Amino acid sequence: MQLYKNQPLKIYNSLSSKKDTFKPIDEGYVGMYVCGPTVYSNVHLGNVRTFMSFDMIFRYFKHLGFKVRYVRNITDAGHLENDADEGEDRIAKKARLEKIEPMEVVQMYTVDFHNTLNKFNFLPPSIEPTATGHIIEQIEIIKTILDKGLAYEINGSVYFDVLKFNETKKYGILSGRNVEDLIHNTRALDGQSDKKNPQDFALWKKAEPQHIMRWPSPWSDGFPGWHLECTAMSTKYLGEQFDIHGGGMDLKFPHHECEIAQAEACNGHSPVNTWMHANMLTLNGQKMAKSTGNNILPHEIFTGENDNLSKAFSPSVARFFMMQAHYRSILDFSNDALEASEKGFNKLIDAINTLGKLTVNDTSSFNIEAWKADCYKAMNDDFNTPILIAELFSAVKFINQVKDGKATISKEDLELLTQTLHAFVFDILGLLNDTNGDDGSEKLSDTVEVLIKMRAEARANKDFALSDKIRDELLAVGIQLKDGKDGTSFSTN
Ligand code: AMP
Ligand code: ZN
Repeated sequence: MQLYKNQPLKIYNSLSSKKDTFKPIDEGYVGMYVCGPTVYSNVHLGNVRTFMSFDMIFRYFKHLGFKVRYVRNITDAGHLENDADEGEDRIAKKARLEKIEPMEVVQMYTVDFHNTLNKFNFLPPSIEPTATGHIIEQIEIIKTILDKGLAYEINGSVYFDVLKFNETKKYGILSGRNVEDLIHNTRALDGQSDKKNPQDFALWKKAEPQHIMRWPSPWSDGFPGWHLECTAMSTKYLGEQFDIHGGGMDLKFPHHECEIAQAEACNGHSPVNTWMHANMLTLNGQKMAKSTGNNILPHEIFTGENDNLSKAFSPSVARFFMMQAHYRSILDFSNDALEASEKGFNKLIDAINTLGKLTVNDTSSFNIEAWKADCYKAMNDDFNTPILIAELFSAVKFINQVKDGKATISKEDLELLTQTLHAFVFDILGLLNDTNGDDGSEKLSDTVEVLIKMRAEARANKDFALSDKIRDELLAVGIQLKDGKDGTSFSTN
Protein backbone atom coordinates (compact mmCIF):
# COMPACT_ATOMS: atom_id res chain seq x y z
CA MET A 1 0.00 0.00 0.00
CA GLN A 2 1.20 3.51 -0.78
CA LEU A 3 2.44 5.41 2.26
CA TYR A 4 0.29 8.47 1.52
CA LYS A 5 -2.82 6.48 2.39
CA ASN A 6 -1.70 6.41 6.04
CA GLN A 7 -0.07 9.79 6.22
CA PRO A 8 -2.57 12.66 6.27
CA LEU A 9 -0.60 15.64 5.04
CA LYS A 10 -1.51 19.20 5.95
CA ILE A 11 -0.22 22.05 3.84
CA TYR A 12 -0.45 25.76 4.53
CA ASN A 13 -2.38 27.26 1.66
CA SER A 14 -1.64 30.94 1.03
CA LEU A 15 -5.07 31.21 -0.57
CA SER A 16 -7.03 30.15 2.53
CA SER A 17 -4.34 31.36 4.99
CA LYS A 18 -4.59 28.08 6.88
CA LYS A 19 -3.34 24.56 6.88
CA ASP A 20 -5.62 22.37 4.78
CA THR A 21 -5.53 18.60 4.47
CA PHE A 22 -3.95 17.87 1.12
CA LYS A 23 -6.23 16.06 -1.31
CA PRO A 24 -4.89 15.78 -4.84
CA ILE A 25 -7.23 16.21 -7.79
CA ASP A 26 -6.36 12.70 -9.01
CA GLU A 27 -5.74 10.22 -6.25
CA GLY A 28 -2.09 9.20 -6.14
CA TYR A 29 -0.92 12.00 -8.46
CA VAL A 30 0.48 15.41 -7.64
CA GLY A 31 0.87 18.24 -10.14
CA MET A 32 3.23 20.94 -8.88
CA TYR A 33 4.42 24.08 -10.63
CA VAL A 34 7.19 26.28 -9.21
CA CYS A 35 8.31 29.57 -10.74
CA GLY A 36 11.89 29.12 -11.87
CA PRO A 37 14.75 31.60 -12.10
CA THR A 38 15.12 34.51 -14.47
CA VAL A 39 18.42 33.53 -16.02
CA TYR A 40 20.21 36.87 -16.33
CA SER A 41 22.75 36.39 -13.52
CA ASN A 42 24.04 33.76 -11.11
CA VAL A 43 21.54 32.47 -8.59
CA HIS A 44 22.32 33.59 -5.05
CA LEU A 45 21.81 31.59 -1.89
CA GLY A 46 18.37 33.15 -1.35
CA ASN A 47 17.12 31.80 -4.69
CA VAL A 48 18.64 28.45 -3.78
CA ARG A 49 16.69 28.42 -0.52
CA THR A 50 13.33 28.77 -2.26
CA PHE A 51 14.14 26.06 -4.80
CA MET A 52 15.49 23.84 -2.03
CA SER A 53 12.26 24.15 -0.06
CA PHE A 54 10.37 22.85 -3.08
CA ASP A 55 12.99 20.16 -3.71
CA MET A 56 12.35 18.88 -0.18
CA ILE A 57 8.58 19.04 -0.79
CA PHE A 58 8.97 17.17 -4.10
CA ARG A 59 11.09 14.56 -2.34
CA TYR A 60 8.53 14.08 0.43
CA PHE A 61 5.67 13.63 -2.03
CA LYS A 62 7.72 11.04 -3.87
CA HIS A 63 8.61 9.32 -0.62
CA LEU A 64 4.92 9.08 0.25
CA GLY A 65 4.41 7.21 -2.99
CA PHE A 66 2.72 9.92 -5.06
CA LYS A 67 3.44 10.09 -8.76
CA VAL A 68 4.58 13.69 -9.03
CA ARG A 69 4.80 15.84 -12.13
CA TYR A 70 6.99 18.70 -10.99
CA VAL A 71 7.25 21.57 -13.47
CA ARG A 72 9.82 24.32 -12.79
CA ASN A 73 10.30 26.79 -15.60
CA ILE A 74 13.19 28.86 -16.83
CA THR A 75 12.31 32.52 -17.41
CA ASP A 76 14.33 33.45 -20.47
CA ALA A 77 12.24 36.37 -21.75
CA GLY A 78 9.65 38.90 -20.69
CA HIS A 79 10.83 39.70 -17.16
CA LEU A 80 11.29 43.46 -17.15
CA GLU A 81 13.40 45.41 -14.74
CA ASN A 82 10.47 46.40 -12.57
CA ASP A 83 7.08 44.94 -11.80
CA ALA A 84 5.11 47.80 -13.37
CA ASP A 85 5.82 46.61 -16.93
CA GLU A 86 8.54 49.19 -17.30
CA GLY A 87 12.24 49.10 -17.99
CA GLU A 88 14.32 46.86 -20.15
CA ASP A 89 14.04 43.08 -20.37
CA ARG A 90 16.54 41.80 -17.78
CA ILE A 91 18.14 39.34 -20.18
CA ALA A 92 18.28 41.76 -23.11
CA LYS A 93 19.90 44.37 -20.86
CA LYS A 94 22.59 41.94 -19.73
CA ALA A 95 23.21 40.95 -23.36
CA ARG A 96 23.55 44.60 -24.34
CA LEU A 97 25.97 45.33 -21.51
CA GLU A 98 28.08 42.24 -22.17
CA LYS A 99 27.80 42.63 -25.97
CA ILE A 100 26.64 39.05 -26.39
CA GLU A 101 23.46 37.37 -27.68
CA PRO A 102 20.52 37.17 -25.24
CA MET A 103 20.53 33.42 -25.74
CA GLU A 104 24.18 33.35 -24.66
CA VAL A 105 23.11 35.01 -21.43
CA VAL A 106 20.33 32.48 -21.04
CA GLN A 107 22.63 29.54 -21.73
CA MET A 108 25.36 30.74 -19.40
CA TYR A 109 23.09 31.26 -16.41
CA THR A 110 20.91 28.21 -17.03
CA VAL A 111 24.07 26.09 -16.93
CA ASP A 112 25.17 27.88 -13.75
CA PHE A 113 21.74 27.28 -12.21
CA HIS A 114 21.87 23.57 -12.97
CA ASN A 115 25.45 23.19 -11.75
CA THR A 116 24.57 24.96 -8.53
CA LEU A 117 21.51 22.85 -7.87
CA ASN A 118 23.48 19.68 -8.63
CA LYS A 119 26.06 20.65 -6.02
CA PHE A 120 23.25 20.93 -3.48
CA ASN A 121 21.96 17.50 -4.51
CA PHE A 122 18.65 18.67 -6.02
CA LEU A 123 16.44 16.26 -7.90
CA PRO A 124 15.71 17.47 -11.44
CA PRO A 125 12.09 18.52 -12.02
CA SER A 126 9.95 16.37 -14.34
CA ILE A 127 9.69 19.17 -16.92
CA GLU A 128 11.73 22.37 -17.17
CA PRO A 129 10.03 24.46 -19.87
CA THR A 130 11.22 27.85 -21.09
CA ALA A 131 9.18 30.98 -21.74
CA THR A 132 10.63 31.39 -25.24
CA GLY A 133 9.62 27.82 -26.08
CA HIS A 134 5.97 28.68 -25.36
CA ILE A 135 5.33 31.92 -27.24
CA ILE A 136 2.57 30.31 -29.33
CA GLU A 137 0.72 29.09 -26.23
CA GLN A 138 1.00 32.54 -24.70
CA ILE A 139 -0.40 34.21 -27.80
CA GLU A 140 -3.36 31.80 -27.74
CA ILE A 141 -4.15 32.73 -24.13
CA ILE A 142 -4.03 36.43 -24.98
CA LYS A 143 -6.48 35.86 -27.86
CA THR A 144 -8.92 34.11 -25.51
CA ILE A 145 -8.70 36.84 -22.88
CA LEU A 146 -9.26 39.49 -25.58
CA ASP A 147 -12.27 37.53 -26.87
CA LYS A 148 -13.73 37.54 -23.38
CA GLY A 149 -13.39 41.32 -23.25
CA LEU A 150 -11.01 41.24 -20.30
CA ALA A 151 -8.01 42.72 -22.09
CA TYR A 152 -7.48 45.57 -24.54
CA GLU A 153 -5.00 46.37 -27.26
CA ILE A 154 -3.30 49.74 -27.55
CA ASN A 155 -0.51 50.58 -29.99
CA GLY A 156 0.48 46.96 -30.51
CA SER A 157 0.56 46.07 -26.82
CA VAL A 158 -2.14 44.12 -24.97
CA TYR A 159 -3.03 44.78 -21.33
CA PHE A 160 -5.15 42.85 -18.88
CA ASP A 161 -8.09 44.96 -17.72
CA VAL A 162 -8.00 44.52 -13.94
CA LEU A 163 -11.05 46.70 -13.21
CA LYS A 164 -13.19 44.93 -15.80
CA PHE A 165 -12.11 41.54 -14.43
CA ASN A 166 -12.91 42.69 -10.93
CA GLU A 167 -16.52 43.48 -11.90
CA THR A 168 -17.33 39.76 -12.00
CA LYS A 169 -14.35 38.10 -10.29
CA LYS A 170 -12.09 39.13 -7.47
CA TYR A 171 -8.61 40.48 -8.16
CA GLY A 172 -6.31 40.28 -5.12
CA ILE A 173 -7.59 37.13 -3.39
CA LEU A 174 -4.13 35.68 -2.87
CA SER A 175 -2.38 38.70 -1.44
CA GLY A 176 -5.46 39.96 0.39
CA ARG A 177 -5.54 43.25 -1.53
CA ASN A 178 -8.62 44.83 -2.91
CA VAL A 179 -8.78 46.83 -6.07
CA GLU A 180 -9.95 50.00 -4.29
CA ASP A 181 -6.80 50.01 -2.16
CA LEU A 182 -4.69 49.26 -5.19
CA ILE A 183 -6.16 52.21 -7.03
CA HIS A 184 -5.41 54.33 -4.04
CA ASN A 185 -1.86 53.11 -3.58
CA THR A 186 -0.56 52.77 -7.13
CA ARG A 187 1.20 55.78 -8.46
CA ALA A 188 -0.48 57.51 -11.36
CA LEU A 189 0.61 56.73 -14.88
CA ASP A 190 3.38 59.01 -16.04
CA GLY A 191 2.07 59.54 -19.55
CA GLN A 192 4.69 57.14 -20.94
CA SER A 193 2.45 54.14 -20.53
CA ASP A 194 -0.38 53.05 -22.80
CA LYS A 195 -2.28 51.41 -19.96
CA LYS A 196 -5.79 52.59 -19.14
CA ASN A 197 -5.17 52.06 -15.43
CA PRO A 198 -1.96 51.57 -13.48
CA GLN A 199 -3.25 48.26 -12.01
CA ASP A 200 -3.48 46.73 -15.48
CA PHE A 201 -0.62 44.51 -16.51
CA ALA A 202 0.96 43.62 -19.84
CA LEU A 203 0.04 40.41 -21.63
CA TRP A 204 1.95 41.45 -24.74
CA LYS A 205 4.38 44.32 -25.23
CA LYS A 206 5.26 45.83 -28.56
CA ALA A 207 9.04 45.79 -28.93
CA GLU A 208 10.83 49.07 -29.44
CA PRO A 209 13.10 49.01 -32.54
CA GLN A 210 16.20 48.40 -30.39
CA HIS A 211 14.57 45.54 -28.44
CA ILE A 212 16.24 42.37 -29.73
CA MET A 213 14.05 39.73 -28.11
CA ARG A 214 10.94 39.86 -30.30
CA TRP A 215 8.38 37.54 -31.83
CA PRO A 216 5.58 38.11 -34.37
CA SER A 217 2.03 38.25 -33.05
CA PRO A 218 -1.39 39.49 -34.29
CA TRP A 219 -0.74 42.78 -32.46
CA SER A 220 2.93 43.59 -33.10
CA ASP A 221 6.42 42.22 -33.15
CA GLY A 222 6.95 42.02 -29.46
CA PHE A 223 7.25 39.82 -26.43
CA PRO A 224 4.94 38.33 -23.79
CA GLY A 225 4.38 39.81 -20.33
CA TRP A 226 6.23 37.98 -17.57
CA HIS A 227 3.14 36.69 -15.70
CA LEU A 228 1.76 35.04 -18.78
CA GLU A 229 4.49 32.44 -19.27
CA CYS A 230 3.67 30.68 -16.00
CA THR A 231 -0.02 30.50 -16.89
CA ALA A 232 0.84 29.09 -20.32
CA MET A 233 3.32 26.49 -19.11
CA SER A 234 1.44 25.36 -16.01
CA THR A 235 -1.79 24.94 -18.00
CA LYS A 236 -0.01 23.10 -20.78
CA TYR A 237 1.71 20.55 -18.56
CA LEU A 238 -0.58 20.33 -15.53
CA GLY A 239 -4.00 21.29 -16.86
CA GLU A 240 -6.42 24.15 -16.25
CA GLN A 241 -6.64 23.20 -12.60
CA PHE A 242 -3.78 21.61 -10.71
CA ASP A 243 -2.72 20.79 -7.17
CA ILE A 244 0.16 23.02 -6.12
CA HIS A 245 1.76 26.23 -7.29
CA GLY A 246 4.82 27.49 -5.48
CA GLY A 247 7.39 30.23 -5.45
CA GLY A 248 9.08 32.69 -3.13
CA MET A 249 6.95 34.92 -0.91
CA ASP A 250 7.91 37.96 -3.00
CA LEU A 251 6.14 36.47 -6.03
CA LYS A 252 2.71 36.48 -4.35
CA PHE A 253 2.02 39.95 -5.65
CA PRO A 254 1.82 40.87 -8.42
CA HIS A 255 3.13 37.75 -10.20
CA HIS A 256 0.88 35.05 -8.75
CA GLU A 257 -2.09 37.36 -8.39
CA CYS A 258 -1.83 38.08 -12.11
CA GLU A 259 -1.50 34.38 -12.89
CA ILE A 260 -4.78 33.70 -11.07
CA ALA A 261 -6.53 36.54 -12.91
CA GLN A 262 -5.26 35.41 -16.33
CA ALA A 263 -6.25 31.79 -15.79
CA GLU A 264 -9.66 32.72 -14.41
CA ALA A 265 -10.25 35.08 -17.31
CA CYS A 266 -9.21 32.41 -19.77
CA ASN A 267 -10.74 29.25 -18.28
CA GLY A 268 -13.42 30.58 -15.97
CA HIS A 269 -12.06 29.05 -12.79
CA SER A 270 -9.21 29.33 -10.34
CA PRO A 271 -6.13 27.46 -11.61
CA VAL A 272 -4.56 26.20 -8.41
CA ASN A 273 -5.85 24.41 -5.32
CA THR A 274 -2.89 25.02 -3.01
CA TRP A 275 -0.63 28.05 -3.28
CA MET A 276 2.63 27.61 -1.40
CA HIS A 277 5.08 30.40 -0.64
CA ALA A 278 8.58 29.92 0.70
CA ASN A 279 10.07 32.61 2.89
CA MET A 280 13.17 34.68 2.34
CA LEU A 281 16.79 34.16 3.22
CA THR A 282 18.20 37.34 4.68
CA LEU A 283 21.73 38.62 5.18
CA ASN A 284 22.32 41.15 7.94
CA GLY A 285 18.56 41.33 8.38
CA GLN A 286 17.91 42.33 4.76
CA LYS A 287 16.49 40.14 2.00
CA MET A 288 19.19 38.62 -0.17
CA ALA A 289 18.72 40.10 -3.61
CA LYS A 290 20.54 40.27 -6.90
CA SER A 291 19.80 43.93 -7.42
CA THR A 292 21.14 45.28 -4.10
CA GLY A 293 24.27 43.13 -3.99
CA ASN A 294 23.23 41.99 -0.48
CA ASN A 295 23.75 38.33 -1.22
CA ILE A 296 26.06 35.35 -1.01
CA LEU A 297 26.76 33.22 -4.02
CA PRO A 298 26.79 29.45 -3.62
CA HIS A 299 30.40 29.05 -4.74
CA GLU A 300 31.45 31.53 -2.04
CA ILE A 301 30.08 29.09 0.54
CA PHE A 302 32.17 26.28 -0.91
CA THR A 303 35.37 28.38 -1.01
CA GLY A 304 34.78 30.63 2.02
CA GLU A 305 35.61 33.65 -0.17
CA ASN A 306 33.19 36.19 1.20
CA ASP A 307 33.66 38.78 3.95
CA ASN A 308 30.72 37.29 5.82
CA LEU A 309 32.43 33.89 6.03
CA SER A 310 35.39 32.74 8.11
CA LYS A 311 35.79 29.45 6.26
CA ALA A 312 34.37 27.18 3.57
CA PHE A 313 31.32 25.00 4.15
CA SER A 314 30.13 21.92 2.30
CA PRO A 315 26.89 21.98 0.27
CA SER A 316 25.30 19.53 2.70
CA VAL A 317 26.09 21.79 5.67
CA ALA A 318 24.44 24.70 3.83
CA ARG A 319 21.49 22.46 3.00
CA PHE A 320 21.23 21.29 6.60
CA PHE A 321 21.32 24.94 7.73
CA MET A 322 18.36 25.73 5.47
CA MET A 323 16.42 22.63 6.51
CA GLN A 324 16.78 23.62 10.17
CA ALA A 325 14.31 26.43 9.50
CA HIS A 326 10.70 25.95 8.45
CA TYR A 327 10.20 26.92 4.81
CA ARG A 328 7.66 29.60 5.79
CA SER A 329 9.99 31.30 8.29
CA ILE A 330 12.50 33.98 7.46
CA LEU A 331 16.02 32.64 7.85
CA ASP A 332 18.96 34.91 8.53
CA PHE A 333 22.29 33.81 7.18
CA SER A 334 25.40 34.12 9.34
CA ASN A 335 28.77 32.47 9.69
CA ASP A 336 27.98 31.51 13.31
CA ALA A 337 24.73 29.87 12.31
CA LEU A 338 26.52 27.92 9.59
CA GLU A 339 29.21 26.80 12.02
CA ALA A 340 26.53 25.59 14.43
CA SER A 341 24.84 23.73 11.56
CA GLU A 342 28.14 22.13 10.64
CA LYS A 343 28.54 20.76 14.16
CA GLY A 344 24.98 19.43 14.14
CA PHE A 345 25.31 17.92 10.70
CA ASN A 346 28.56 16.16 11.58
CA LYS A 347 26.99 14.80 14.75
CA LEU A 348 24.07 13.45 12.73
CA ILE A 349 26.26 11.82 10.10
CA ASP A 350 28.63 10.40 12.73
CA ALA A 351 25.67 8.73 14.41
CA ILE A 352 24.47 7.30 11.09
CA ASN A 353 27.97 5.99 10.39
CA THR A 354 27.99 4.37 13.84
CA LEU A 355 24.85 2.33 13.16
CA GLY A 356 26.75 -0.49 11.47
CA LYS A 357 29.07 -0.84 14.45
CA LEU A 358 26.40 -1.14 17.17
CA THR A 359 26.03 -4.34 19.17
CA VAL A 360 22.48 -5.66 19.18
CA ASN A 361 20.54 -6.93 22.18
CA ASP A 362 17.32 -8.85 22.79
CA THR A 363 15.33 -5.75 23.56
CA SER A 364 15.37 -2.05 22.79
CA SER A 365 15.26 0.71 25.36
CA PHE A 366 13.83 3.21 22.81
CA ASN A 367 10.52 2.95 21.01
CA ILE A 368 11.64 3.16 17.38
CA GLU A 369 8.11 2.77 15.94
CA ALA A 370 6.82 5.70 18.01
CA TRP A 371 9.85 7.78 17.05
CA LYS A 372 9.30 7.01 13.36
CA ALA A 373 5.66 8.05 13.67
CA ASP A 374 6.81 11.36 15.19
CA CYS A 375 9.12 11.95 12.22
CA TYR A 376 6.18 11.55 9.84
CA LYS A 377 4.01 13.70 12.07
CA ALA A 378 6.52 16.53 11.76
CA MET A 379 6.64 16.30 7.98
CA ASN A 380 2.88 15.90 7.69
CA ASP A 381 2.46 19.16 9.55
CA ASP A 382 3.25 21.41 6.60
CA PHE A 383 6.72 19.93 6.01
CA ASN A 384 8.05 20.92 9.41
CA THR A 385 11.73 20.10 8.88
CA PRO A 386 13.00 21.78 12.10
CA ILE A 387 10.78 19.51 14.19
CA LEU A 388 11.85 16.55 12.07
CA ILE A 389 15.50 17.42 12.72
CA ALA A 390 14.81 17.62 16.47
CA GLU A 391 13.37 14.10 16.20
CA LEU A 392 16.45 12.96 14.29
CA PHE A 393 18.58 14.21 17.17
CA SER A 394 16.58 12.09 19.65
CA ALA A 395 17.73 9.15 17.57
CA VAL A 396 21.33 10.46 17.54
CA LYS A 397 21.28 10.65 21.34
CA PHE A 398 19.96 7.12 21.56
CA ILE A 399 22.56 5.77 19.10
CA ASN A 400 25.36 7.32 21.14
CA GLN A 401 23.91 5.80 24.31
CA VAL A 402 23.84 2.36 22.68
CA LYS A 403 27.43 2.90 21.58
CA ASP A 404 28.43 3.75 25.16
CA GLY A 405 26.57 0.72 26.54
CA LYS A 406 23.97 2.91 28.26
CA ALA A 407 21.02 1.79 26.09
CA THR A 408 20.07 -1.30 24.10
CA ILE A 409 18.65 -2.00 20.65
CA SER A 410 17.28 -5.18 19.07
CA LYS A 411 18.30 -6.41 15.63
CA GLU A 412 14.88 -5.60 14.09
CA ASP A 413 14.85 -2.14 15.63
CA LEU A 414 18.35 -1.44 14.39
CA GLU A 415 17.20 -2.26 10.87
CA LEU A 416 14.13 -0.06 11.22
CA LEU A 417 16.14 2.79 12.70
CA THR A 418 18.74 2.58 9.93
CA GLN A 419 16.12 2.46 7.20
CA THR A 420 14.11 5.35 8.68
CA LEU A 421 17.13 7.57 9.26
CA HIS A 422 18.34 6.97 5.72
CA ALA A 423 14.91 7.82 4.32
CA PHE A 424 14.55 11.09 6.22
CA VAL A 425 18.16 12.28 6.11
CA PHE A 426 19.14 11.33 2.57
CA ASP A 427 15.93 10.80 0.55
CA ILE A 428 13.74 13.52 2.05
CA LEU A 429 16.09 16.20 3.40
CA GLY A 430 18.41 15.49 0.46
CA LEU A 431 21.59 15.54 2.55
CA LEU A 432 24.69 13.64 1.50
CA ASN A 433 26.95 11.57 3.67
CA ASP A 434 29.89 13.71 2.62
CA THR A 435 31.71 14.17 5.91
CA ASN A 436 33.20 10.68 5.37
CA GLY A 437 32.37 10.04 9.01
CA ASP A 438 35.10 12.46 9.96
CA ASP A 439 34.41 15.99 11.10
CA GLY A 440 38.13 16.78 11.02
CA SER A 441 38.59 16.10 14.73
CA GLU A 442 40.73 13.04 14.12
CA LYS A 443 43.06 14.97 11.82
CA LEU A 444 43.22 17.82 14.33
CA SER A 445 44.15 15.48 17.12
CA ASP A 446 46.90 13.82 15.04
CA THR A 447 48.31 17.23 14.13
CA VAL A 448 48.35 18.44 17.72
CA GLU A 449 50.05 15.22 18.79
CA VAL A 450 52.85 15.91 16.27
CA LEU A 451 53.29 19.40 17.75
CA ILE A 452 53.29 18.02 21.31
CA LYS A 453 56.07 15.64 20.31
CA MET A 454 58.08 18.47 18.72
CA ARG A 455 57.64 20.53 21.88
CA ALA A 456 58.88 17.66 24.06
CA GLU A 457 61.95 17.34 21.84
CA ALA A 458 62.60 21.09 22.04
CA ARG A 459 62.39 20.92 25.83
CA ALA A 460 64.73 17.94 25.94
CA ASN A 461 67.19 20.06 23.92
CA LYS A 462 66.63 22.94 26.34
CA ASP A 463 65.24 25.02 23.47
CA PHE A 464 62.62 26.68 25.68
CA ALA A 465 62.05 29.50 23.22
CA LEU A 466 60.72 26.98 20.67
CA SER A 467 58.75 24.92 23.20
CA ASP A 468 57.04 28.06 24.56
CA LYS A 469 56.33 29.27 21.03
CA ILE A 470 54.57 26.00 20.19
CA ARG A 471 52.49 26.20 23.39
CA ASP A 472 51.59 29.91 22.93
CA GLU A 473 50.70 29.65 19.26
CA LEU A 474 48.46 26.68 19.90
CA LEU A 475 46.79 28.63 22.69
CA ALA A 476 46.25 31.54 20.30
CA VAL A 477 44.16 29.25 18.06
CA GLY A 478 42.22 27.87 21.02
CA ILE A 479 44.20 24.71 21.82
CA GLN A 480 45.45 24.47 25.38
CA LEU A 481 48.27 22.11 26.31
CA LYS A 482 48.26 20.57 29.77
CA ASP A 483 51.40 18.98 31.17
CA GLY A 484 50.69 16.13 33.57
CA LYS A 485 52.57 13.23 35.02
CA ASP A 486 51.46 11.00 32.13
CA GLY A 487 52.67 13.41 29.49
CA THR A 488 51.03 16.31 27.71
CA SER A 489 47.35 16.38 26.76
CA PHE A 490 45.31 19.10 25.08
CA SER A 491 41.87 20.61 25.11
CA THR A 492 40.08 22.88 22.66
CA ASN A 493 37.72 25.70 23.53
P1 AMP B 1 14.10 35.32 -9.64
O1 AMP B 1 15.15 34.65 -10.48
O2 AMP B 1 14.51 36.67 -9.16
O3 AMP B 1 12.75 35.31 -10.31
O4 AMP B 1 13.96 34.46 -8.31
C1 AMP B 1 13.84 33.07 -8.30
C2 AMP B 1 13.19 32.61 -7.02
O5 AMP B 1 13.98 32.97 -5.88
C3 AMP B 1 11.80 33.21 -6.77
O6 AMP B 1 10.92 32.19 -6.32
C4 AMP B 1 12.04 34.23 -5.68
O7 AMP B 1 10.89 34.40 -4.89
C5 AMP B 1 13.13 33.56 -4.90
N1 AMP B 1 13.94 34.49 -4.09
C6 AMP B 1 14.46 35.68 -4.46
N2 AMP B 1 15.14 36.24 -3.43
C7 AMP B 1 15.06 35.38 -2.39
C8 AMP B 1 15.56 35.38 -1.04
N3 AMP B 1 16.29 36.36 -0.56
N4 AMP B 1 15.26 34.30 -0.26
C9 AMP B 1 14.52 33.28 -0.73
N5 AMP B 1 14.02 33.23 -1.98
C10 AMP B 1 14.28 34.26 -2.81
ZN1 ZN C 1 5.91 32.33 -12.33
